[in-house]
Amino acid sequence: MGLFSKVLDWIPGRDLGSMGKKDLAMDLGTANTLIYVKGKGIVLNEPSYIAINTQDNSIHAVGMEAKVMWGRAPRHIQVYRPIKDGVINDLEPAQLMIKHFINKALSRLGRILKPRIIICVPSGITQVEKKAVIDAAIQCGAGKVYLIEEPMAAAIGAGLAIDHPQGVMVVDIGGGTTDVAIISMGVPAVSDSKRVAGDEMDNAIVQYVRKNHHLMIGQLEAEEVKIRIGSAYPTEEGETCPVRGRDLVTGTPKEVVLTPAQVAQAIQDPLHQILEIIRDVLDRTTPELQSDIHREGIFLTGGGSLVKGMDRFIEEHISIPVTMAEDPLTSVVEGAGRALEEIHRFKKAFLT
Ligand code: ADP
Ligand code: MG
Repeated sequence: MGLFSKVLDWIPGRDLGSMGKKDLAMDLGTANTLIYVKGKGIVLNEPSYIAINTQDNSIHAVGMEAKVMWGRAPRHIQVYRPIKDGVINDLEPAQLMIKHFINKALSRLGRILKPRIIICVPSGITQVEKKAVIDAAIQCGAGKVYLIEEPMAAAIGAGLAIDHPQGVMVVDIGGGTTDVAIISMGVPAVSDSKRVAGDEMDNAIVQYVRKNHHLMIGQLEAEEVKIRIGSAYPTEEGETCPVRGRDLVTGTPKEVVLTPAQVAQAIQDPLHQILEIIRDVLDRTTPELQSDIHREGIFLTGGGSLVKGMDRFIEEHISIPVTMAEDPLTSVVEGAGRALEEIHRFKKAFLT
C-alpha cells in the first residue's frame, strides 16, 4: 500500500486507473483559483472573483478583471468573491466562475468530454459543503469529481512522506483562512481552519491607516501595501509605500506614506492570532506526534506566508523549525496535480 492508496482512499469511485489525458486538478481558493491540466501543468491562475451585470444577469468580468472592480464597480455591476473560508458561499456566482475557469483552462486543449476533476478542499469540510463543490463541478461539465484535502495536496507537492506514522505539520496561510493539519498515516490526524489569514492582514492595515492617519483606504490598496512591504518583524529598512484614500476629517483625497515598520505593527494582531491557531492544534496533538513535529518541523505554505520573515516569526514563537514551500501560491494545486499524474503508477493498489 503506497502513498496514493491512502490519499485516494476516501475518493469516491475506484476507476482511477483509467484517468484520461485531460483530467484536471483545481485549487478553488478564497483568494485565487488555480487549474492544473494533466501532462501540462498549471494552465490557469486567477483571483476568485466574478462581476455580474444585475440588469440582465450576464457575466461582466471574471478573475483579475473582476478583482480590479472590487469597491469600484458601477451600481448595476455586483462583484462577488463566491468562495468564503475555502468553501462555496454564493452558489450561483461560484458556479458561473468555476465554469468560466474550467472552460478557459480547456479552451486551448481542444474539446474534452466530461473531464475528471480533482478539487482541493479544506480539511474539516462538511458533507453539505462537499456536495456543493461536487454539484458545482458536475454542473460545469465535469464527468467525475474527486476531492483532496488541501494540506494533503500541499504535502504531496512538497514530497513529504505523509504515509508514515510520523506526523507532518502543514500550515497554509491563505486569503480567508489559515489551515493547520497534522498528517499521519496518510490522513489528517488533527486539523483546524480559522478565519485569520491574508484578508485579515489587509483589514488590519485599513484599520491602522484609519486610526493613525484618519485616512480611509480600500481593501485592494491595503493588500498591495502588504505584498510590497509587509513583514512580520518591524524594520526601518526597505522601501516605503504611499497609499491614497479619503481623509476622514476633511473628506478630501489624501496620500500618506507607510513605512515597513508601520505595516509590520499594523499586522501584528492577525500574525499573533495565526500563532494561536498553530499552538492550538499542537496542544490537541498526542505527545508522540508533537515530538515528531518538533523534530521534523512545520511545512509552511499559502500566499499569506509570503509576508517577509513569516517563517522566522513562526519558528521563533513556536520553537519549531519551519520550511517554506517552494512556491506558496501554487503548492496545493501542484500537489493535487502530482497526485493526478502519478495515479496510474498505483493503479493496482486502488483496484485490489
Ligand atoms: P487562497 O488559497 O485562500 O486562495 P492563497 O494561498 O492564494 O489563498 O493566498 C492569497 C493571499 O496571499 C492573499 O491574502 C494575498 O494578499 C496574499 N499574498 C500573495 N502574495 C503575497 C506576498 N508576496 N506577500 C504577502 N502576502 C501575499
Ligand atoms: Mg489555498
